[in-house]
Amino acid sequence: MAIREELEQKVREQGAESLSAADSKQIYYGLLALVKERLEQTRRITGDRKVYYISAEFLVGKLLSNNLINLGLYEEVRTVLGEAGKTLSEIEEIEPEPSLGNGGLGRLAACYLDSAATLNLCVDGVGLLYHFGLFRQSFWDYKQQENPDVWLTEKSWLRKTETAFTVPFPSGDLQGVMYDLDVSGYESGANRLHLFDLATADEEIVTQGIDFDKKDIARNLTLFLYPDDSDRAGRLLRVYQQYFMVSCAAQLILKELSDKGYALRDLHKHAVIQINDTHPSMVIPELIRLMQLQGISMDEAISIVSQTCAYTNHTILAEALEKWPLDYLEEAVPQLVPIIKELDRRVKEKVDNPALAIVDENDLVHMAHMDIHYGFSVNGVAALHTEILRTSELSGFAELYPEKFNNKTNGVTFRRWLMHCNPALSDFITQLIGNGWKKDANELEKLLSFQNDEAVLRSLLEIKNDSKAALKAYLQEKSGIEIDSDSIYDIQIKRLHEYKRQQMNALYIIWKYKQIKAGHRPKRPITLLFGAKAAPAYIIAKDIIHLILCLQEIIENDVDVSPWLKVVMVENYNITWAEHLIPACDVSEQISLASKEASGTGNMKFMLNGAVTLGTMDGANVEISELVGRENIAIFGKSSDEVIHLYEEGEDRYTPKDFYLKDEEITELMDFIISPQLMRLGDPENLGRLYRDMTRKDWFMALLDVKEYIQAKERLFEEYEDRMGWAKKMLINIAKAGFFSSDRATAEYNRDIWKL
Ligand SMILES: *Cc1c(COP(=O)(O)O)cnc(C)c1O
Repeated sequence: MAIREELEQKVREQGAESLSAADSKQIYYGLLALVKERLEQTRRITGDRKVYYISAEFLVGKLLSNNLINLGLYEEVRTVLGEAGKTLSEIEEIEPEPSLGNGGLGRLAACYLDSAATLNLCVDGVGLLYHFGLFRQSFWDYKQQENPDVWLTEKSWLRKTETAFTVPFPSGDLQGVMYDLDVSGYESGANRLHLFDLATADEEIVTQGIDFDKKDIARNLTLFLYPDDSDRAGRLLRVYQQYFMVSCAAQLILKELSDKGYALRDLHKHAVIQINDTHPSMVIPELIRLMQLQGISMDEAISIVSQTCAYTNHTILAEALEKWPLDYLEEAVPQLVPIIKELDRRVKEKVDNPALAIVDENDLVHMAHMDIHYGFSVNGVAALHTEILRTSELSGFAELYPEKFNNKTNGVTFRRWLMHCNPALSDFITQLIGNGWKKDANELEKLLSFQNDEAVLRSLLEIKNDSKAALKAYLQEKSGIEIDSDSIYDIQIKRLHEYKRQQMNALYIIWKYKQIKAGHRPKRPITLLFGAKAAPAYIIAKDIIHLILCLQEIIENDVDVSPWLKVVMVENYNITWAEHLIPACDVSEQISLASKEASGTGNMKFMLNGAVTLGTMDGANVEISELVGRENIAIFGKSSDEVIHLYEEGEDRYTPKDFYLKDEEITELMDFIISPQLMRLGDPENLGRLYRDMTRKDWFMALLDVKEYIQAKERLFEEYEDRMGWAKKMLINIAKAGFFSSDRATAEYNRDIWKL
């Protein structure tokens, strides 16, 4: 049946007279039903060997457009809706965004599922079905408020399955029920994302904001992603959650193996488990435990599991590398403790180096160490990051297992991050170089032949201007905020973390505010956009949000400055916001302290949409810089070598106080944070704490790079005024973005690790 008739029928089932009389809700649910049927008819990707990508997060985003694009229905549906006087974006407004992740790591997992299905690789995701995700962010009194993110609706993309597993806990057995999301590939077959929910989960136990009884695991296990871990009960809950996830995953993997008629001993021939960061690490001892229950010896189980598991490292931040106290594990997962101890004993027998132990001298269990010893592959996520792992952070392991270490520079799916979020640019590219780039992203390089073509460059600027106007309208509608679409859009959107240095960008705001107050107006107005959630227990991160929101207000109310400078922090930054912000961006802020951002993927999405990066030599910025050349990116700041060196010097490595006291300009910027003007508007406790932290500790060295940062930013804004020169930078960035397709990244995982 043609889509038009099929959709007519579906909206009638939703109670509408006809398509043209249907409201957005009826059309959305009609399309949901239609697309779900098509997905069920889509060929399942199968294979004798299969990858299980286990991850605590899958930040999939809204799925309607994505599925329409991948199923080849997008254009047709767009036309049919257009004839009925509707746009796809109105319809998408109805779809809730799944709240199954929190940042780059979860978005990466979603991109890899999309690419694996596109490349016809048999890769299923395994994770948890969080009822309320991380939290829904709102602002009140210039501060972040947290509430449950209610996204699960009666009708959704999820399919409840018959599959359920029993997970043993000391307080009794709990049931994991499996829900499936179909993952369509671009003009290809489909894989699945398996999400386990606790059968007895009870949303009613959530009281104030996101508070709930952390000890009631029979009801709370799958309510929230990363529950507050500032107390012991919260940390134990994370262990319970992780075990629930990996036990369900392990049971599913063994069940599928046996359903296919393969012997347990052949697990490693038919399955690869990709451990996405350390949250799923307990899958290693859990699989060993389950194999022993089926009569396989410890020796053999260890050998088989070690040939099955591969680990992706996402961070070198010491505080982010998970270490669980042994007594937590004894309380939460006693059945794994003898296995973990045995794994540790074998390591200690083999290598006489306490730094490589799984259980250290303080009885802390290092999850990453277990993954490295008992997995066959360890990969970092950008060239620089993998180099730092090899030579510094994990050097002892790299010497022991050189063959295990490999790099897989991250990537993003161009279906979502160009075709869906920026159809005008996508169509223009196709008009210039044909359709080939959609399957082979390297073909974007063909755009280079247009780098001196004035008409093409002008069109690029026009498309950018249209996206900027669209963002202006969207912001107006969502938050009532008015921005100037003729201004430069400078955007920093990512999790709020000190190492990402939103606080350094805030210092630029203060600097620029003072400049304009002193009569130095910019050539063109500047709009600085932010989007970021702070972890509920991360005090300084919340203080930084408070500072930015206070600055936003002060500037808004200052008639001398507001025509020239605007600060906007969007509420509840998520994938949907990203899809609206990224196409409209002129300057992409990627300003982490060098050596601290493993890769970044936001940087890639921006580049692909023709933004110019303002960044440090960190993560994948290094590779972006190599690809586009120094004229087409603005690099500033200390190098990762210099930073690593500073950290090695210990206590007197770097003293922010010196920068603060010895440099008058920095003194002025910092003092503004505790000026009467700010303290009157904001909360003196938050502002004072942030001021003290930045002048005394400044662990991520904002004051080290801030002056160079301000200069680089000003220089870049100057360059913006050469519109044709800027358009050429845009074009070169787009043309060189092909390397950052997740199709390339996924193909590399398969070539070097999965070997499907
Ligand atoms: C891409 C993306 C991220 C990752 O951004 P980074 O700048 O790489 O940290 C985080 N959140 C959302 C919603 C994203 O789309």
